[in-house]
Amino acid sequence: MNVGFHSTNPAPPEGADYTTYRPYVREDFRECCAYCLLHEVLAGGVDNFELDHFRPQSLPEFANRVNDFYNIYYSCHVCNHTKWRKWPSEELTALGYRFVDLCAEDFSEHFHEEVDGFWTPLTRPGEYTESRLRLNRKHLVELRSLLREVTIGRGLDPIDWNSPDRDTFLRLLGSTGIIGPDRLM
Ligand SMILES: [Zn+2]
Repeated sequence: MNVGFHSTNPAPPEGADYTTYRPYVREDFRECCAYCLLHEVLAGGVDNFELDHFRPQSLPEFANRVNDFYNIYYSCHVCNHTKWRKWPSEELTALGYRFVDLCAEDFSEHFHEEVDGFWTPLTRPGEYTESRLRLNRKHLVELRSLLREVTIGRGLDPIDWNSPDRDTFLRLLGSTGIIGPDRLM
């Protein structure tokens, strides 16, 4: 089963300016970053989230995908800016290096989370994605480690990175009292 990001179907009207897709994209990505997979509440809040072009809009071969709804991914500011216009060269693509696309694939096909919160790439797409997006930046590893400690301490299931969603994160944070019950509706 994949995470099922981007489930709005049919897409909003073709040709619309992609920024109008934001509410749909936010919902389809369940308020989580398409790359580090953190929910808004742990990644700077809704104002820190942006619309990323999975296939970069600045590359000529993707110029026709600028307003393609299915090319727009919800991303935290750091992931979006780290990804920027990166895309594998033909040589790397031929060797199997590419960005993991969690709209179509499972996290666990490409990564394994270690007990200290480090995401070990299992495949070439995993390697490429981890290095280009810096998915093991210090802050993320520390946060994942903390989330693990909280889940274990509270007797909860660890976060399933194959299907991160708002409810999982809010339930977890709600159990600590970090956020109030009004957010747990
Ligand atoms: Zn992110």
